[in-house]
Parts: sequence; structure tokens; C-alpha cells
Amino acid sequence: MRIGVFGGTFNPIHFGHLRVAEEVRETFSLDKIIFIPSGVPPLKKQDIIDAIHRLKMTELAVNSNPFFEVSDIEVKEKKPSYTLNTINILKKLYQKDILFFIMGIDAFFELKSWYSYEVLLRMVDIIVMSRPGYDDITKSELIDYKVSENCYRIKNSDRNVFSISVSPFWISSTLLREMLRKGKSIRYFLPDTVLKYIEENELYR
Ligand code: ATP
Repeated sequence: MRIGVFGGTFNPIHFGHLRVAEEVRETFSLDKIIFIPSGVPPLKKQDIIDAIHRLKMTELAVNSNPFFEVSDIEVKEKKPSYTLNTINILKKLYQKDILFFIMGIDAFFELKSWYSYEVLLRMVDIIVMSRPGYDDITKSELIDYKVSENCYRIKNSDRNVFSISVSPFWISSTLLREMLRKGKSIRYFLPDTVLKYIEENELYR
């Protein structure tokens, strides 16, 4: 199987996440995408609600797509979520499968601040999605050379990074949290089930 691993804070998950994941799944012929909400994120410290809520919202958001699933591996770890550890666990679970780690270009540009990013870059191929307002992948210093159209070799690694131009969504979780704090409607930015969960649990007030 070809499996996409999509890590994020998902604070909250929104249609930007869902739609770009669907485009990646189709373009790269992935058999499934595993959404992995972070437990205690090592980098994003502000404004993060409990991991259990973020996990539940992610489950509600993906459950109508048979190709999407959610893993609680990071949430159940009570220590900071390092992608490297997560990939190690998944590689053991899916020994016969091909894994791709999926991230937006904004996250890719920040990769150098991630725990042991050089090791991570030697462990798994990466799919990088475009995002409005960010440069393209060729501006990254992590890229060594172009292998073929939309495929680049990572420096000091025999792994590749594949870039995909996805539909542009200006939406972000930060924007949704700000709108909620101001008492504005965020309807149609995320699934109704997730919105209902936010309202019922009085989140992001
Ligand atoms: P925040 O605003 O809190 O930083 P976010 O909307 O960027 O959140 P994350 O949970 O941090 O969402 O994102 C998880 C992954 O999804 C990241 O790799 C991010 O780059 C990617 N992503 C999020 N929104 C988009 C989008 N609109 N287009 C492309 N990629 C996205």
C-alpha cells in the first residue's frame, strides 16, 4: 500500500486540510491517508486546546471518507510529539508499505527547527503541498537538485521530496480561532459536525 501520513495540530481541522489531503491522495494514488493530530506540540505552544478535543474533531471531519483515517499515536503519548518518533512507529507497523509524509510548504520551510530533521529527511519521502502566500519549494535550502518534474532530491539524503500544487485555501486554524474569539460565524470553513462539537464543548472562547 501507498500510505500518506498527515501530521498537524488540527486546532481545529478545516476544509483546507481536508481538500488538500484529498488532492494529494488522488494525485499520488495513495491507498489511504492517516491524519495524526499532535499531542503536546513541541513548537506551537500558544492557544492549543486539549489533544483529546483535536483528535475527536479530526475523527468527525474524516469519517465520511473511506480513504482517510485518524491515528491517536501522538495524542496518547503525553510527551512532546516528534514526527521522527511517529515515523519510526509507523515504519514498524507498516513494514511492507510505502510511506509518504505530507506537509504544507509553510511547514516545510520550518523543518530545520524540527527535532532531528536531518534524520527524518533520510527516513521518509515527503510530499509538500503549496499554500497561498508562500514561496515554492525550489527556494528551500534543503533541496539538493531536481530529479524530475515536481520531484527533488533532499541534501545529504537519498530521499525525495515531491511537490504538488493544490487548490489555494487562504483558510488557517489561526484565522478560525480568531473569528471564534470575536464571536463570528465560521460556518462553511469546516464540517458541520466539527462546528457542532466546538459549540457543544464551548471551545476557543
Ligand atoms: P495554524 O493556523 O494553527 O498554524 P494550520 O491551519 O496551518 O494551523 P496545521 O494543523 O498547523 O494547520 O496544519 C497541518 C498541516 O497542514 C501543515 O503541514 C500545514 O502546512 C498544512 N496546511 C494547513 N492548511 C493548509 C492549506 N490551506 N493549504 C495547504 N496546506 C495546509
